[in-house]
Parts: sequence; structure tokens; C-alpha cells
Amino acid sequence: MSYVRYNCKLLCVKSSAANDRAVMIVMQRIQEYNARSINYNMRKVFASMYKQFKEFDGVPDQIDIARIVFSHSTWETAILTDAYNRMADAVYPLIADDEGLKSMEHYLEHKSDEPPANYKRDLNSWIFQHLGVHISDIDDTTMGEIRELASISKTTEDFQKSIKGYFINNAPSRAYTIARTESHSAATTSADISVRNTDIGRDKIKVWRTTKVNTRQTHKEMDGVSVGMDDAFQVPRNDGGYDMMMYPGDSTYAPSAGNVVNCRCMCFYRYA
Ligand SMILES: [Zn+2]
Repeated sequence: MSYVRYNCKLLCVKSSAANDRAVMIVMQRIQEYNARSINYNMRKVFASMYKQFKEFDGVPDQIDIARIVFSHSTWETAILTDAYNRMADAVYPLIADDEGLKSMEHYLEHKSDEPPANYKRDLNSWIFQHLGVHISDIDDTTMGEIRELASISKTTEDFQKSIKGYFINNAPSRAYTIARTESHSAATTSADISVRNTDIGRDKIKVWRTTKVNTRQTHKEMDGVSVGMDDAFQVPRNDGGYDMMMYPGDSTYAPSAGNVVNCRCMCFYRYA
């Protein structure tokens, strides 16, 4: 993949601004590459849902809608699990301990190393805990939107017309948002888990960083804020309150969508 050509050093080093920029570019490359494949596959999922609704005789009731949407959950789970694992493998070589692994040569040499068992174990546990929630959020949104269309459809023709509009006009942008958001959270989670499994026992801090391009106001305020590894960032919400987030893209404490969707921020990690 093209991102290996960057002379990136690592997320967890005494780093320079130039290094940080290079690492950020690599992280974005990893996300973009995987977002493209999530987007492509989610569009196929929506196309399959559309096909089933198109073939439905009459206006579907709530149970019919749930049955059709949920029949795609396993497929959605497989798409995201696969993407998460690929991203974890790509992010892992960016993280290393202080002294040994700073050169690009080292990165290239080690990029196909099998990550240590702890990393895979923690990552799988994150996938297990979060994927169920993410998939039901995605399915609930789809279901809610289609129920709305069904409830205002008086005839089969009405429903067919609005469902066609929904899958042609709304589904592609949803697939895109899901792809962007999920690839971001998988990349930032992989980095966090990887840093935790590196140089265990040595105190580290994490620093919130924005890309400085089209950054939302609430995240501009976070740029450069640092906290301990086990502490949460207090991220301002649009409505005036705060969300607790362990790192950009983290949904442990159910942050508002405004702090998660389409975010491109990441953490840099430093020794305390
Ligand atoms: Zn952000």
C-alpha cells in the first residue's frame, strides 16, 4: 500500500512537528483506504435491502421492516470486522517504544510482523464490545427512516416511490458517513490499544490533535490538550455540555454524534 513510502516515525516517541504531520498523513491514508472499502460494501448492503423492499408486496409493517433490515446485520458485522482487523494490522507498525524502532527501515522491516498476542486480544475485545452497539445504531437508524416512509405511504405505489427515493438519495451518503466514522474510530482505537501494549509500565500521556483543515469548533478547542492514558478528554458539545472521550472516535461513554461523526482528529502519545 502506498502509505509505507512516507518516512514516518512513530506515534510514541519524542516527536517533532514534521514527524507528527507525517504520521497524521499515514493515519489518514489508512483510514481513507479502508473507508473506501467500507463505503463500497455498505452500498451493496443497502442495494440488497432495497431489492427486498422493492419485491415486497404491499406496505411493510414494523415487523416486516425489522426483518428485512436485520437480515443484513451479519453481513454488516463481517464488513466492519474485516475492516477493523485490516486497519489494526496497518496501524500497529506505527507504534513503537522509545529507542529501538524509530527508523523507516525498521518500520518497513517490521510492518508485516504479527502483532503481539495482547494487542490482538485487546483489539478483539474492543471489536466484540463495540461492534454490536455500532451495528444496532446503524440498523436502528435505517429502520426508523424506513418506518417513517411506510407510515406516510397510503398505497404500495406511494411506498415504492418513497423507498426508491430513500435508497437512491439517502443511502449513499449514509454509507459514506458510516465508512468515514467507522474507519476513523477503528484507526484511533488501534493506535490507543497499540500504545497501551508498548513499553508497558512506563507512564504515557495522550495529546488530542486536529488536522487543522475544516475542523469543527468544538475540536479546535481540543487541539493540543493532553491527559493521562487512563483519563478521558472533556470534549465540548455543541449544546454547551461536555462529552467524555478516551480519544477521538471513542464511543465508550456514548458521546454525542456531533463529536464523533466525520471527525478526523487523532491522539499523539508521549512519555510522561
Ligand atoms: Zn475532530
